[in-house]
Amino acid sequence: MNIGVLGIQGDIDEQEEMVRKIGHNPVRVRRVEDLSKVDALIIPGGESTTIGKLMEKYGFIEALKNSDIPILGICAGMVLLSKEVVGKKQPLLELIDIVVKRNAYGSQRESFEDEIDFNGEKIKGIFIRAPVVDRILSDKVEVIAKEGSNIVGVREGKYMAVAFHPELSEDGYKVYNYFVEEVCNKG
Ligand code: GLN
Repeated sequence: MNIGVLGIQGDIDEQEEMVRKIGHNPVRVRRVEDLSKVDALIIPGGESTTIGKLMEKYGFIEALKNSDIPILGICAGMVLLSKEVVGKKQPLLELIDIVVKRNAYGSQRESFEDEIDFNGEKIKGIFIRAPVVDRILSDKVEVIAKEGSNIVGVREGKYMAVAFHPELSEDGYKVYNYFVEEVCNKG
């Protein structure tokens, strides 16, 4: 598969490396036209306000809302896929029926690691100024990852979002495999 990585801002190289690691071809997506070359898209972690504003400016928000390209959103990417952010207005794709809280773990826990439940397995979750799912707005949304009682991974149809950084952990490839096998191929 040709898996696009949105190349606006954030940890782009690490995403491309993971795509290669699971045996697929990474394609850097910088302009809307590049979307025609990809079978799926990853929105990397970074700063969701910055990424969202640039996505709007370059036409990605409109293009992705009107496409059926499967999307995996990581951290800031989860924020961008959500319907609403608690207490803040910012450009969003609004493709997953969730409300998220940004920087939900607060400044004292800017970044940390914890074991999480992902799709019935324990894996390592690396959280960096991570959001959490504050509310789920419809029963189309499936919870796929939890850190304690916090919802840190969801899936709705061909869209999937995680609050942690699977590109930074040894077993994080399982998250990408799930995206390809369950979301892209069956979603
Ligand atoms: N705190 C960032 C945001 O809300 C996300 C951080 C990240 O992607 N590592 O945009």
